[in-house]
Amino acid sequence: MQEKMERLKNLQGLDQELNAIRQKRQKLEEEQQVLNDEMARIQGMVDKLDGDIDVLKDERGKLNQALAQEQDNVKKAEGRLPGIKTQKEYVAVLKEIDTAKKMNKELLDSIQRKDAEIDVLVKDREEKDGELTALKEKAGSRGAEIDADMAEFNGAIEAKESERELLLGDLSTTVRKRYHMLLERRGGVAIVEARNETCLGCNMHLPPQLFNSLFSASEIQSCPHCNRLLYVVIQK
Ligand SMILES: [Zn+2]
Repeated sequence: MQEKMERLKNLQGLDQELNAIRQKRQKLEEEQQVLNDEMARIQGMVDKLDGDIDVLKDERGKLNQALAQEQDNVKKAEGRLPGIKTQKEYVAVLKEIDTAKKMNKELLDSIQRKDAEIDVLVKDREEKDGELTALKEKAGSRGAEIDADMAEFNGAIEAKESERELLLGDLSTTVRKRYHMLLERRGGVAIVEARNETCLGCNMHLPPQLFNSLFSASEIQSCPHCNRLLYVVIQK
């Protein structure tokens, strides 16, 4: 019985170690995820700005075309002036030129405003791109550390798992099932010490007969209150 309980105690110790490593591994995975999410978020902002800048540049291109058209109109109208015969026609062409020039001025203003808008977005994009580069560097160096730690944790988990398989192999299916069920239901503590007629798992009093039997019984005993498997430390 003592030997079997010893094995179970070792098993529980291993399981607790495995749990601790798995938790550390999960934390690293979460950290990696946060870095990836942040990179994706900023990349999304850069992409969005690229799209917005393209739209503005397209609009500016159209304004440029319109400006060229109006400038052409002015030239053509001015070219017609020398051949004009009547005062009335002359006034009409001058008015046409004046209107086209006003239009030119408005178009130039619009182009300037568009350029200013583009500048703002380009600066914003540069800033975000800088953030992204810095974050990628950080993710790269931290990622390498995380990868190294992960490899170490995975190795440790593998080693402990095979150790665990060996311990499990020596236990009967019934004991294994009881152990696993308790581990799950009792927060990872299935095996506890009994001391001074008390279960140290739930701190409840144990019947003296049960407590005394722990020193000699050949069967595994469990606490009548929390069902955990009990062992006693025998003073030598
Ligand atoms: Zn108990």
